[in-house]
Amino acid sequence: MAARIALVTGGIGGIGSAICRELAAKGFRVVAGYYPAEKDLAEQWLQKQRSEGLEFEIASGDVSSFEDSQQMVRDIESRVGPIDVLINCAGITRDKTFRKMEPDQWRAVMSTNLDSLFNVTRQVVDGMVERGWGRIVNISSVNGQRGQFGQTNYSAAKAGAHGFTMALAQEVARKGVTVNTVSPGYIATEMTQAIAEEVRQQIIAQVPMARMGEPDEVAYLVGVLCDDRAAYITGANYELNGGLFMSF
Ligand code: NDP
Repeated sequence: MAARIALVTGGIGGIGSAICRELAAKGFRVVAGYYPAEKDLAEQWLQKQRSEGLEFEIASGDVSSFEDSQQMVRDIESRVGPIDVLINCAGITRDKTFRKMEPDQWRAVMSTNLDSLFNVTRQVVDGMVERGWGRIVNISSVNGQRGQFGQTNYSAAKAGAHGFTMALAQEVARKGVTVNTVSPGYIATEMTQAIAEEVRQQIIAQVPMARMGEPDEVAYLVGVLCDDRAAYITGANYELNGGLFMSF
């Protein structure tokens, strides 16, 4: 059987890269999606992976745009083949306390972190349903579960991601397609490196495990959810946050 094809949006980012490697190790043919302005960075990323003996495809697309997402998926389908696994991992932060937040900071985060789920998933879900197999994993955040000071935009978008997951999971449940959310706590990537050191230390002090998570730890869980044997897991939200937040 030909390898199943996986698209990881934000695939050249910290968590996305780890997910690409995990899915490749599980035998998927992996396409890393990247923001169009990052073409050079994406080429460098690809070369680096190749130097480590790993082969990927890359595909350009702004996931905050429906048309761009459509173009990206068409490009992948013509070059590589139909997409069996979608990991919605692209995301940004534009932190500001609510009373200082500007409309463009709100909109940028909502369109990149939430509209993107519609924009990209809409392009691939019909094919998954028709073929009777599919895996969709939406990367949310602990801050979508508990809210975070200075992140009304991000917390709203990430909470919305799980609503999206639960509704779509019901719609495709009889078609062999599962939809799940993974909600990481603080993970050591460029996104969290941007946090001021003093604040970072305060965050770590709140985590029962007293450390940030590693991208590979998120990737492992995503890999499990994409496995054939994960067929009965759908509409679920998986937390991995070192004990920072425990929902019931
Ligand atoms: P990174 O910034 O390393 O990766 C995010 C990737 O998404 C980048 O490559 C970025 O490109 C890309 N991206 C941003 N906007 C768009 C767009 N419009 N279209 C296409 N690609 C885009 O962050 P992480 O790896 O840390 O985060 C990955 C996901 O995990 C995000 O959804 C984030 O919200 C979530 N998350 C992260 C946590 C953490 O602690 N790191 C915790 C919980 C959740 P570019 O570099 O050009 O912006």
